[in-house]
Amino acid sequence: MADTEFTGWSGRNGNGNGNGDNTITFSNVRILDATGEEPYLGEVTVQGNRIKTVTRSGSSMNWGGSSDRRIDGRGMTLMPGLCDAHLHLSWNNAPGIDPIQMMPLEEHTVNCILMAKLLLDSGFTSGCGAAAAKPRLDVVIRNAINAGQVPGPRYTAAGPELTAVGGLGDATLPHIPHEGLNLGIVCSGPEDVRRKVRELMKWGVDTIKINLSGEEITGMGAEENQFSDEEIAMACKEAKNRGRKLAAHARSKESIKKCVEFGIERIYHASFHDEEALDMLEANKDKHFVAPGIAWLINTARNAAEYGIVPGTPITIAYERELEHAIDTMQKMRKRGIRILIGGDYGFAWTPHGTNAKDLEYFVDMIGFTPMEAIQAATKYGGQIMGMGEELGQIKEGYLADMLLVDGDPVRDVRVLQDHSRIVAIMKDGKFHKAPENAPAGLRLSA
Ligand SMILES: [Zn+2]
Repeated sequence: MADTEFTGWSGRNGNGNGNGDNTITFSNVRILDATGEEPYLGEVTVQGNRIKTVTRSGSSMNWGGSSDRRIDGRGMTLMPGLCDAHLHLSWNNAPGIDPIQMMPLEEHTVNCILMAKLLLDSGFTSGCGAAAAKPRLDVVIRNAINAGQVPGPRYTAAGPELTAVGGLGDATLPHIPHEGLNLGIVCSGPEDVRRKVRELMKWGVDTIKINLSGEEITGMGAEENQFSDEEIAMACKEAKNRGRKLAAHARSKESIKKCVEFGIERIYHASFHDEEALDMLEANKDKHFVAPGIAWLINTARNAAEYGIVPGTPITIAYERELEHAIDTMQKMRKRGIRILIGGDYGFAWTPHGTNAKDLEYFVDMIGFTPMEAIQAATKYGGQIMGMGEELGQIKEGYLADMLLVDGDPVRDVRVLQDHSRIVAIMKDGKFHKAPENAPAGLRLSA
């Protein structure tokens, strides 16, 4: 990165979590490799932080190696760690956007540490930051995770979303012209956008996220659009100049088209469509990822009554309508082979962090994914959206050893992944965050 970048105390890409030359072998496991193939019996050997061998039962198994580095999987499922494509580690399970934003920075930093651990405890070994509540929260937690200071998923850091004056995330009041209450970074005009994007990159974000459409709960309709083409183009140009990823809050059909037109790879929500939007996306499907955030729609519409969002009122009726559109849109995108990923905008009181794996169930039940497709939406495509598709998200020789040992068969019932007690082992980067109970003593030390 450019030498002018502010990297805080621990650097931007601290790493070095390997096991040295040590090997760990999982034998007697059902390997769910996330290539799309049905699980098969075999064993997987990890050396350092990578998968060294994947051996099918029946072929010449490697029974060598020290027994103190061998784990008997007892027929359980070994699969890649999960990826949440729309993750906010700075959302603090509060009942609304304001209490997230109002949390003082000191408490908020601690809360991010707790959420990062909770995500890893839940089997999520990677995640894409989809906006932070304060400029450097994501950056700091990413650096601390990479440096091995705190447990958490691999994480691409975002800053606050860029928003237009009066757009989603601009909570400025006429009598309090201070920007501190805003969830977004308010900008107006291309030059202002340029400056704000450069500032965020200076603070160390990996991803620039721009709010292209509204959000019902804020009073700005989901189908409203807020930025001019000149502003969008500027944000994208500046981010690409510095090799950053682009993401957009894009609920409206017009905003989906803008994502394709300007090359914004991570399209969040994409609830509303027309044929043109689908055609444009399909023609560029290798460049884009869609994460609909379906959990937010379902639970805000139906399960937030105790927080004052009562079914049958205008706001929930609006979310029910959007949910109906989103399901239709996702079904059509699935048929067109567009990559759709899990990541449900978790981190509100009615969608708490730790329940993120519910998205797989929603994909199966509401969009019509097969369980295998839902698993790939959480693993294989997760590796790809992290920009690491050639080394993350599948169980293959040479891939990074981010894996879960699951007491159950997610291909038969994806809900097993919601039960943390059934995820008996969690390995990230070749190290156990959670070791299986029958692991030899030397392997049970957590990373
Ligand atoms: Zn979000």
